[in-house]
This record gives sequence, C-alpha cells and structure tokens, in this order.
Amino acid sequence: MFIRRLPRFEYHVATSVAEALDQLSVHAENAKVFAGGTDLFVSMKKRDVTPEHVINLKGIKELKHIHYHDGEGLKIGGLVTIGELECSAIIKGKFRALWDAVKVMASPQIRNLGTIGGNLCSALPSADTVPPLIAMGASVKLTGSKGERTVLVEEFFKGPGESILEHDEILAEILIPSPPENSGGSYFKLMKRNAMDLAIVSAAAFLVMDGNKKVCSGACIALGASATTPIRASKAEKVLINKEIDEDLAVEAGKVAAQGARPRSSIRASGWYRKEMVEVFAKRAIMEAYRRIIRDS
Ligand SMILES: Cc1cc2nc3c(=O)[nH]c(=O)nc-3n(C[C@H](O)[C@H](O)[C@H](O)COP(=O)(O)OP(=O)(O)OC[C@H]3O[C@@H](n4cnc5c(N)ncnc54)[C@H](O)[C@@H]3O)c2cc1C
Repeated sequence: MFIRRLPRFEYHVATSVAEALDQLSVHAENAKVFAGGTDLFVSMKKRDVTPEHVINLKGIKELKHIHYHDGEGLKIGGLVTIGELECSAIIKGKFRALWDAVKVMASPQIRNLGTIGGNLCSALPSADTVPPLIAMGASVKLTGSKGERTVLVEEFFKGPGESILEHDEILAEILIPSPPENSGGSYFKLMKRNAMDLAIVSAAAFLVMDGNKKVCSGACIALGASATTPIRASKAEKVLINKEIDEDLAVEAGKVAAQGARPRSSIRASGWYRKEMVEVFAKRAIMEAYRRIIRDS
C-alpha cells in the first residue's frame, strides 16, 4: 500500500478544556482536535481530512477520570484510553458489556493510545464501544463555547463518520447509569481474524430480570455495523419483555433484530451475510447477558 506523509498543519497543545475551546473558536472549521490520533492521523494521511490546525487534547487531566458511585452511575472522561477501560476493575465487574468490547478492540498498542471519546467522535458504524454504551443507556456530555449539553449515545450519530458534535465542541464525558439489581450485559463482535480487525457486525444486549430472575422486565439490544450508524433493535427488545428467557426466545429475538438491520455491502462483507450474522450475534449477546445474571446470583 502507498503510505503518504501527513499533510502540513500547525500543531497546538491544550492543557485544559477552556484552552481547547478557545483554540477551536479561533481556528473554527480549519481545526481538528485529537486524543490518541489512531483515527485522525490515518484519515489525514489518506487526505480524507486536511485540517490546517491540529489540537492535541492529551494534556487535559480533567478528562481522564473513571468515577463510579452507586446511584449516580459511572462517569468516564473523554480522554480515557481503551487500555485504561480494559484494566478497570469497575468496568470489568459492573459494566461487563463495555469490557467485552474494549478487550477485543485493535491491539494493545492501539488500545494504549486510542480513547473512548475518539471512538465515539469518529462515528464509525463499527465502533466497538458504541453498542454496549447504547444498550446500557449511556449519554455523552458535550462542552462547547455556548455551554454544555447531554445527549443519549443512541442519538449522537447522524451517518458514517458523522455525529451531532459541532466543530467548536469536545466530548467531555460519558455517563452510564448504575446497573439495576438482577441486570447484566454482553457484547459480541464478528471479525475476519481474532485481533486488529473492525467488526463485520456486532451486538450488545443488556437485560433486567424480575426479583426471581425468571421473567425479563427490561431489555436493550444495540447493533454495530448493521446500518449507516449504530442502531437499537427495539422490535427485538419487545420480543423479550415479560417473557422467560430461553434459547428459543433468543433465536426469535435474533431473527427480529436481523429484520430491522439495514447493513451495507462492502469489500469486507455483503449486506446479506451481515444480516444473517446479526441474527446469530444478537441471539448470542442475549443468551450471554442472561447467563451472567443467573451466574452472578
Ligand atoms: C490498526 C487499527 C486498528 C483499529 N481497530 C479498531 C477496532 O477493533 N475497533 C474500533 O472500534 N476501532 C478500531 N480502530 C479505530 C481507533 O483506534 C478507535 O476508534 C479509537 O478509539 C480512536 O480514538 P483516538 O483517541 O485515537 O481518536 P483520534 O484519532 O484522536 O480522534 C478521532 C476523531 O475523534 C475526534 N475526537 C477525539 N477525541 C475527541 C474529543 N474528546 N472531543 C471531540 N472530538 C474528539 C477527532 O477530532 C477525530 O475526528 C483501529 C485503528 C487502527 C489504526
């Protein structure tokens, strides 16, 4: 493959959110921020984007936190790396679907650089952290020169590579509600090889069972690489509500999830194959989420 040099740009460093917002307002649409740079510099080499000003956010300490409080939920700073999420006991213990996703992303080197904020803001339909975040009801806090706004992750994406983020805003924090009693989640990703690969399709499920862990009282299923943005499989969720979970029900929900998917054909997989695999992976995610709830009792 022909590797190009980066195009010329002016380099800036921000050490606080206020500084980053100042620089963004001065350089307006000619500027791009970066965190790990694992997506941005690849796009710049391909000349997909050619910003004149590039702002390094990595020195902003206030966006590097992982805080959890029962009741308040989990707050993850936008600059937390995928590797830090993978090493977090709270993510592994309480937010298992997200942990499933970060542990199968890229390679250790990319995970040490790449951030959760960058994964969201790149807005790829295959971004691994997104389906678990949607399934767990997460929101993002966006900070800009006009103030702050909080938006559900489910409503953050507009199309491939496109989100609602304005050019003068940064993604400051991800907020995930505390998981209720008798709940659990999981994430599965189909790849051509076992590492360093984007999802062909992916599925996350988050289930809440009643007090006896017999009947499903809440369900959220989210799919990656199954449409032009990550999507929720709302009709499949309805199949599970007020029912006892078993393999047959999960198969039915998987079929309904596949009917709602609108995957594109690409060099990596046909739309038809992706749809077939949504059925399989949605079913797997449901069954694993359910097994985890039963096992953790
Ligand atoms: C070899 C390789 C393998 C990969 N494998 C995977 C994989 O398996 N799964 C997967 O999902 N991804 C994968 N990726 C993509 C990438 O590593 C991830 O998306 C990563 O999380 C991006 O984070 P970053 O901090 O490096 O983003 P950056 O490259 O720094 O930024 C990406 C975009 O987000 C914007 N941005 C970054 N942070 C913020 C912020 N806080 N506020 C506002 N805008 C921001 C930037 O302006 C840019 O447009 C891979 C990449 C490579 C090179």
